[in-house]
Amino acid sequence: MLRASRCGKYLAVLALALASSLFAITGFAADRAHVVVLATGGTIAGAGADAANSATYQAAKVPVDKLIAGIPELAKVADVTGEQVFQIASESFTNDNLMILGRRVSALLKDPKVDGVVITHGTDTLEETAFFLNLVIHSDKPIVVVGSMRPGTAISADGALNLLDAVSVAANPESRGRGVLVVMNDQIDAARDVTKTINIKTNAFVSQWGALGMIVEGKSYWFRKVDKKHTINSEFDIDRLKELAPVEIAYAYGNVGKEAYSAFAAAGAKAIIHAGTGNGSVANRMVPVLRDLQDHGVQIIRSARVWGGFVLRNAEQPDDQYGWVVAHDLNPQKAKILASVAIASGMDAKALQKAYWEY
Ligand code: ASP
Repeated sequence: MLRASRCGKYLAVLALALASSLFAITGFAADRAHVVVLATGGTIAGAGADAANSATYQAAKVPVDKLIAGIPELAKVADVTGEQVFQIASESFTNDNLMILGRRVSALLKDPKVDGVVITHGTDTLEETAFFLNLVIHSDKPIVVVGSMRPGTAISADGALNLLDAVSVAANPESRGRGVLVVMNDQIDAARDVTKTINIKTNAFVSQWGALGMIVEGKSYWFRKVDKKHTINSEFDIDRLKELAPVEIAYAYGNVGKEAYSAFAAAGAKAIIHAGTGNGSVANRMVPVLRDLQDHGVQIIRSARVWGGFVLRNAEQPDDQYGWVVAHDLNPQKAKILASVAIASGMDAKALQKAYWEY
C-alpha cells in the first residue's frame, strides 16, 4: 500500500517535471488553450496623434506583436500567438482578402495544437468577414472576430478589453459549435445577426435578434443559440471554394434610375442585391429593368435598406413569377456574402432561396 502510494507520488512528480520542461521548450502550458490572433488591421490597430483623438486617427498601424504585448493579462487566459495577415482598414477588404483569411483560419483550426482563433478587424466590414467565415469554415472550434471603435492611443480606448474578452471567449470550450462569434463592448454576438449601427459610439454593434451572451471579467454568460446553419453544418467549404462570385449591391431610393443596375450587369455581376425600400420594394418603372436582367442570367435578390425585420417572399413583389430571390433577414452586405459564396458553389435561384432561409 505504502509502496504503491510512494510510486504514485513519484509518477506525479515525474509528470510535473515533464510538463514544465515541455512548457520551457515550447512555451505552451499543457492545460491552457492555445489561441492564435490573426491581425488584419482596423481601428483596433489604429493610432492617433493625441490621446484626445478618439475619431481622428490612422487605422491599421500597430503590429500584432505589439497589440498582444500591450495586454499582459492575455497570458493569464491562454497561450496566445499572433500572425499579421494584413494591415488594412476594413473598408479596403476585397474578396481576395476574404479568401486568404478564410484559408488561413481553416488551416489553423485543423491543427490539433490550436484551440481557437481570434481575428482582429476593422469594424466597417467586420460583420461581412465574420459572416463569410461562418459560412465556409468547417470547424466547431471557436472563431471570434473583434474590433474597436477607438484607437489604442485614445483615452478610454476599447480595444484592449475587447481583445482580452475575445481571447477569453476563444479559449473557452463552451464557445465551441456556436458559429463565428463577434465580441465587442462586453457582448457576444452571432456573425449572422450582428451589424454595425453607429460610426462613433463604443456600443456600435447590435444583433437584431439579440446577443448570444455577455463576457464580464473573462467569464462568458450565454443566453441563446442561433437556429441557422453555420460552420460545421454548412454545405459551403473554403477548401472547395476557388473564388467568390461577383455580386453587387444597388441602393434604392425615391427617383431611383436603372443606371447602377445596368452598369453592374455590364461589368459582369452574377447577382444584384436590391437594397430596397421598406419590404425590399421595387419601384414600378424598375420592375421591367430587373426582370430583364434576371432573364439575362443576373440573379435579382431583394433585401432591404431598412435596419431589422425581414423581406417577405411574394409579398411586395411576385417573386415566384419573376424568379427573384428574397434575402430574408440578411441585410444587403450579408446577402451579398451569401450570394457570392452560393453562386460560386454552383447554386441557381431556387437553391439560393433555400440558402437564404437556412443560413
Ligand atoms: N475604418 C475603420 C476600419 O474598418 C474603422 C474601424 O476599424 O472601426 O478599419
